[in-house]
Amino acid sequence: MAKQKVYALGIDLGGTKTLAAVVDITTGEVVASARKRTRAEKGQEFVSQRILTLSAMAIEDAKLPADAGIVAVGAGAAGQIDRQAGVVVDAPNLGVKDMQLGDLINRQFGKPVAVGNDVEVAALGEYLYGSGQGFHTFMCVFVGTGIGGGIVQNGRLYTGLSGTAGEIGHMTIDAGGRLCPCGSRGCLEAYASRTAITKAIMSEIHHGRSSILADDAEHQLKEGETIIRSGTLANAISHKDALVIECVTEAADYLGYGLASVMNLFNPESIILGGGVIESIDVLFERAVHRARITALSKPARDTKIVRARLGDFSGVVGAACLGAQKAGYTFPIV
Ligand SMILES: [Zn+2]
Repeated sequence: MAKQKVYALGIDLGGTKTLAAVVDITTGEVVASARKRTRAEKGQEFVSQRILTLSAMAIEDAKLPADAGIVAVGAGAAGQIDRQAGVVVDAPNLGVKDMQLGDLINRQFGKPVAVGNDVEVAALGEYLYGSGQGFHTFMCVFVGTGIGGGIVQNGRLYTGLSGTAGEIGHMTIDAGGRLCPCGSRGCLEAYASRTAITKAIMSEIHHGRSSILADDAEHQLKEGETIIRSGTLANAISHKDALVIECVTEAADYLGYGLASVMNLFNPESIILGGGVIESIDVLFERAVHRARITALSKPARDTKIVRARLGDFSGVVGAACLGAQKAGYTFPIV
């Protein structure tokens, strides 16, 4: 007899895109999904409305049988989270502060709601149904608009005293260096995120360097895109664009230094890398892994596996749906 399906709604509120999906949490299968750009610059009300619209679209597309609605809703947001209260406390990349996300979702759906950090829920998704299967202690690092991290320790999400554990994006890698959206200086995110890569490329173009992106990137940025797409970067690299290769290589090296520190400090079984640039740009992934291995202490450098996230864009929504289902009392078999 086929296993009974259980559906939950997962919401991934990232700096670049907002994604909602109906997920069969017994298999990790995404039944239907809807996405749009986040548009942090439009403010909190707009971001809230966008979440509800995308959720309604995903649920409608899923066409669930009448007797099998969603059992819960989970959301992951790119910022500091008060999990107990379901509040996004501060999220500079989303243009959001003290957002009552749990209440908003609960008013709409009247189901159990769980709210977590975006990469923390992605780590849960990868643990249950992706590259984390078989590992019990690992770290997920997602490179996008910012850089986020999630820690699974002994089969459980580790969130720390204040709920902010895993914030690798704000690890200082250059004392007194570039300003970071968090207000500090020299954070990894200011050197290796897609935002940082965009800034480095645009600054060089502005100062007269040639690049096949010169027209393309400026056009995209004028169209309201705030950062250059991963696919555009990958395409420039395949055309051997010297400026893009230089900026991406520099970012990959900084990412590698950050990963080396994770290996030394945490000594996990594996590090799972995800996000658009990791998926699209092989040379960035390979260079970061190489830099990490030649920088870390010899034993963790040799032993720690570094792999790519397997669920791609869906790590966050799958994990979020599973987090919501846990809140509703569903227990997952330990893999
Ligand atoms: Zn920072």
